[in-house]
Amino acid sequence: MLLSDPSLIKNTLLLNGVWQAGSSQFAVYNPATGEEIIWVHNASVKDTQLAIEYAVLAQKQWQQSLAAERAFLLKNWHQLVLQHQHDLALILATEQGKPLSEAKAEILYAASFIEWFAEEAKRLYGDVIPTTAANRRLMTIKQAVGVVAAITPWNFPAAMITRKLAPAFAAGCTVILKPSELTPLTAMALAELAQRAGFAPGVLQVLPTKEASAVGELLCQSPDVKKLTFTGSTRVGKLLMRQCADTVKRLSLELGGNAPVLIFADADLPKAVAGVMAAKFRNAGQTCVCINRIYVERAVYQEFNQLLLKAMQQLVQGSALEPGVTLGPLINTEAVTKVSALVQQAINQGATLMWAGQKPVAGSNFYPPTLLCDVTQDMALMQQEIFGPVAAVMPFDSEQEAISLANQSAAGLAAYVYSNDISRLWRLAEALQVGMVGINETAISTEVIPFGGVKESGLGREGSRYGIDEYLEIKHLCWGGLV
Ligand code: ADP
Repeated sequence: MLLSDPSLIKNTLLLNGVWQAGSSQFAVYNPATGEEIIWVHNASVKDTQLAIEYAVLAQKQWQQSLAAERAFLLKNWHQLVLQHQHDLALILATEQGKPLSEAKAEILYAASFIEWFAEEAKRLYGDVIPTTAANRRLMTIKQAVGVVAAITPWNFPAAMITRKLAPAFAAGCTVILKPSELTPLTAMALAELAQRAGFAPGVLQVLPTKEASAVGELLCQSPDVKKLTFTGSTRVGKLLMRQCADTVKRLSLELGGNAPVLIFADADLPKAVAGVMAAKFRNAGQTCVCINRIYVERAVYQEFNQLLLKAMQQLVQGSALEPGVTLGPLINTEAVTKVSALVQQAINQGATLMWAGQKPVAGSNFYPPTLLCDVTQDMALMQQEIFGPVAAVMPFDSEQEAISLANQSAAGLAAYVYSNDISRLWRLAEALQVGMVGINETAISTEVIPFGGVKESGLGREGSRYGIDEYLEIKHLCWGGLV
């Protein structure tokens, strides 16, 4: 990796403002080549305990800081991320595998949360409530929740971090970050830039670790950690929620999606295909708002499949840094095995394999783009996230059927609809049981919108003016005995 600033590569733990060694190490790999990139120090349970103690100390000062100071530090951090965006994108693409163009876009997306919450930091207003008694006055103030633990995934190694850290810092919370063990280098480069931005020791601490369950358990069970914010699988999210029960911890959970897209006969089909391509194949299909289930009205089913096939044949699969690449590898071999099994199972149950691309490197983590038609609702790939570049298409006959199919899922993160009938679009927007609906659009995520899901897709919202509420308590002040 040829970086302009090689000192952005950190491989130790950030504890109380100092990068320091752990007692063991683990390797981080490039998913496209299988090559080892670097060995990273492993945070133990003991290191986690230390991080909590430092965070408690830092919290006392940090929550007293002025909003303007926090905004200033966040703006510094934002500037540094922009200044080093190329290096950050290289680090991200190398450890995660997404094409460099996507990695660059993610860094800008990640930076946008820092800027947004730098601005929001100064607008944490309380209320004066019209009183119910002449001798009383009623008010609310907002206060930082306290020490926050953030556990983040590998699919967006930068954005899922800033989306949590920026509002936490803006609110006056310290953060202990446990990034994914598959992509810790982006997290540590972002943390290094936060250090350079001037955040005090202990405001941000980073625990790269192979011992996710033990470290996670301590973070959940410690009464000194006041909030857990997690993005990852529904399975782990439920486990963490259970572990947080004993301390009744505040929780934000961004868990799995199983996003449907409903394409009606009156839709602009080329636009629908372009939308499906963007939302299905970004990050090789490894995003939680990825289109997982494609439902197409029977009158345009064949036509849609042909258009989608043509578009899919334009995908260029390869390593992140190769020019022109639009589709990277999956994160690891287990992911390839899982996607292969889902596809094989669907074919065995009667799905039609319309097309599968060539795997660019045999035996690697690349999974070829694959188009399956005539899938049915009972197939495993319609019930769970595929998390791979596999488009699964199924016909429907009526609006009611489409809504019912879309809502038959325990997940409820995003859904997408394509139609030109405005009344229908409004009906669908209200009927779909999800947190976010893309209407003739699939690029729905920015820093200004509340990102989050319903049902088993999680709790809370990230980004937007609501995102900071997750890190604040509302305190009521009742002033009595006034004369
Ligand atoms: P994915 O399927 O996207 O890899 P995971 O839920 O396994 O999602 O991982 C998301 C994050 O959760 C990662 O940082 C991972 O290390 C962490 N994690 C996994 N298992 C646990 C656990 N038992 N306790 C705490 N964190 C965990």
